[in-house]
Amino acid sequence: MVKKVDELDSEVPAELATKSHGGHSIRTGRGVVDRSKIGVIPIALEVSGQKQPNQYNGHTYKNPPQKYRLDGHKMIYHMDRIVAWKNGERIAPIHIDMGITKFCNVGCTYCLGVTQGMTKGTMIEPEALLRFVKDAGRAGVRSIGFIGDGEPTLNPGLYDAVNIAADVGVDTGMATNGLLLDMDHAHDMLKNMSYIRFNLSSAEAENFRKVHQSHPKNFAPLIEKMKALVRIKKENNYPCTIGIQMVLIPENFSQIVKMAELGAEIGVDYVQLKQCSDTEYKEIAVDYEKYIDIEEELKFAESFSTDDYHVIAKWNKIKITQETDVYKNGFRKYDICYGTPFLGQISGNGKVYPCGPFFGKDRFLMGDIHEMSYYDIVQSDRYWQVQQDIIDNIDVHHDCTIGCRQDYLNKFLWDLENPPEHVNFV
Ligand code: SF4
Repeated sequence: MVKKVDELDSEVPAELATKSHGGHSIRTGRGVVDRSKIGVIPIALEVSGQKQPNQYNGHTYKNPPQKYRLDGHKMIYHMDRIVAWKNGERIAPIHIDMGITKFCNVGCTYCLGVTQGMTKGTMIEPEALLRFVKDAGRAGVRSIGFIGDGEPTLNPGLYDAVNIAADVGVDTGMATNGLLLDMDHAHDMLKNMSYIRFNLSSAEAENFRKVHQSHPKNFAPLIEKMKALVRIKKENNYPCTIGIQMVLIPENFSQIVKMAELGAEIGVDYVQLKQCSDTEYKEIAVDYEKYIDIEEELKFAESFSTDDYHVIAKWNKIKITQETDVYKNGFRKYDICYGTPFLGQISGNGKVYPCGPFFGKDRFLMGDIHEMSYYDIVQSDRYWQVQQDIIDNIDVHHDCTIGCRQDYLNKFLWDLENPPEHVNFV
């Protein structure tokens, strides 16, 4: 039985400093960020004697074999698409992250989507969503993550979209708060999706109230639902990976080790512990210096890993504060963003953009899947003019968020586009 949004109680904890964004409150700070200095700091560094950002392009340590690569990229497994792009072809993205709604039934205090505006009831029309999935398959898209903007289970087209994607050969995954996940579709989801990731950043009901701004009574049924999903997966040997993502903010640091225990108890495949992404103006105001204080807890949480249960801290991003001032404040290790043709993003209202941080900015609007087939959007002049605008005019050090979804891809593509002398001496 699916609950309506209005039937779920939620309340804003009085003790948490929050800022209202159209009815949804997020944690906030009062700092004013002067981003105009970011790109010029490297010169100042030479004067101050501070360490320069690490410019080394190769591996800086031995990569251990990983079951999941959650803290990196997988571009080398798509060389055909890279060669096509190098040849000037109008390629489809390998992967798309997309919201399919622009509203939610909980109010996570670290929600980046809220800073870009949420409107109750706004979503991609189910019919347009299903057409999009078929068009994406026709265009050559290899995977879609129903991730970003609002909660995907609030779109009634979600479950059909997953099934159609499997039919047309597009892998799917989803990030959900899980409260409204319809268990009538459990078998289809587990059969047809590559992963289901629960956005759960609290391991106890009272902290759940504070961090997700949902009623504590919603916590226990959610855990039971996750256990049921794990049981169905195991009984039927379904391939779908079930994970938990915990976003680290000071309000839930007490939950880190408890989350590692809870994940093991539920039986999920992994718990990912990740930094809180922020806007270029640091609207969510998480002080990354604070992550230094929780390194021991994170390592202890990771020690709960077994052969079939993985607790993974995203160290590369968590440790950003231990980089030099320039890098931790937004300076990138490349000058041009080449990643958007390979990883596209679509807002929960159906509008296509090169990347999530530019949602809502008309200059970067490439089309709307309600009005045009995605196949035609990718082939259109407008789509490639926007891609060129990014390459020609975006200063990634000033204009972009601190570490975006395409960041790892950009490091790889920067090296590809800037080869050294004598490449044949491999
Ligand atoms: S580097 Fe900038 S333009 Fe490129 S995807 Fe990231 S935020 Fe967007």
